[in-house]
Amino acid sequence: MNVSKENISLAGEAYVILRERILRGKLPIGKVISRRKLAGELGMSMLPVSEALMRLEFEGLVESRPRAGTRVKIPTEEDVRGHYVVREALEVEAAKLFAEKATPQERAELQRLATRVDALSTQTDGDRFLFLSLHEKLHRRIAECTKCQPLCDAIEKNHVLASTWLCTPKPASAGPSHRHQDLIEVLIKGDAQAAAEAMREHVAYALKNTLQRLEPYFQTHEANAETYVRSSKKSAMVETDAVAESFASEGRSVKRSPRNPAKQLANK
Ligand SMILES: [Zn+2]
Repeated sequence: MNVSKENISLAGEAYVILRERILRGKLPIGKVISRRKLAGELGMSMLPVSEALMRLEFEGLVESRPRAGTRVKIPTEEDVRGHYVVREALEVEAAKLFAEKATPQERAELQRLATRVDALSTQTDGDRFLFLSLHEKLHRRIAECTKCQPLCDAIEKNHVLASTWLCTPKPASAGPSHRHQDLIEVLIKGDAQAAAEAMREHVAYALKNTLQRLEPYFQTHEANAETYVRSSKKSAMVETDAVAESFASEGRSVKRSPRNPAKQLANK
């Protein structure tokens, strides 16, 4: 095997390992990733690790800045809302087409999948990664059953992000346990407008839930922005702070978010 081929396969290996750690929450949101440490741990050089991180950055799972490093992406409230605008547009369309085009077998398959997803969602000690994988699969299958490949491609990319955001700890008030079964019941009846409406509600609920879960991170953004203003001249900074401040310095997190975005949304 020549060097470049070996690098590609090592980069693929590093990508799979890192992606799973992020989706499982072992590498939580905001966690700084040291290329050097990771390369040592995985027994490979820095090059494949850097390539894996570039791919994860393209997918929106990590973010990096020159001279600051790489960390698991901390989304801003703006990121989250923007993500859900796209998600709603794509998934509402998928729901409409699914209602019209899915075969009886596909409708039955989605019913079974929804039952499993709902069962896993309420297990407090359950396998979070399994839940996230099945949940992603259910939404992806709805799109696949539309037989519209460009729509599938767009949804596939979009869900990578949604999974990370859901890896933050569960709020005390988890949603009802039959959310996905209810959604699929509407979709399989074949009324495109009703399917669109059901999906719109499903996505709106997810947005509200995600904003609630990420509220502490939005506050971290604000805190970091203030720290940056006070200590930008200090040379000795711990790695985490250095990265946080570098990100804050770009102004993307300086913008003030509403104190409680979830409440704001609920009032709309
Ligand atoms: Zn869902």
